[in-house]
Amino acid sequence: MTASDCLFCKIVAEEIPAEIVYESADAIAFRDINPQAPTHVLIVPRRHIATINELENSDTDAVGQLFLAARDIARQEGFADDGYRVTMNCNGAAGQTVFHIHLHLLGGRNFTWPPG
Ligand code: AMP
Ligand code: ZN
Repeated sequence: MTASDCLFCKIVAEEIPAEIVYESADAIAFRDINPQAPTHVLIVPRRHIATINELENSDTDAVGQLFLAARDIARQEGFADDGYRVTMNCNGAAGQTVFHIHLHLLGGRNFTWPPG
């Protein structure tokens, strides 16, 4: 399913340009336009899912593939052993602004905990 007004569906459909760093059958990853770390990549399922709240039990493979992509990109980018952060925001209190689920992969610097 494609949401016609969804920015990330448009990137998946190549209607809006992005710097794509990873592609698989079910997921793509591209560089965040406003990076918060030396590497900041967004990993998205090709299929539109608005938020974590809309996940179905049958989406386990789609979600698992996002983490496998994070593993591979962290290795490609060279910070797999040093460490990195993956984050998925859900709805307003967490600051979600694009309503097509995406895993943020951040690496190349040290991160603090708890996050802001
Ligand atoms: P979130 O706030 O978790 O929904 O994350 C949305 C992310 O999408 C933010 O980090 C934005 O910088 C990023 N973003 C917005 N528009 C674009 C775009 N056209 N290409 C790449 N990243 C984008
Ligand atoms: Zn979408």
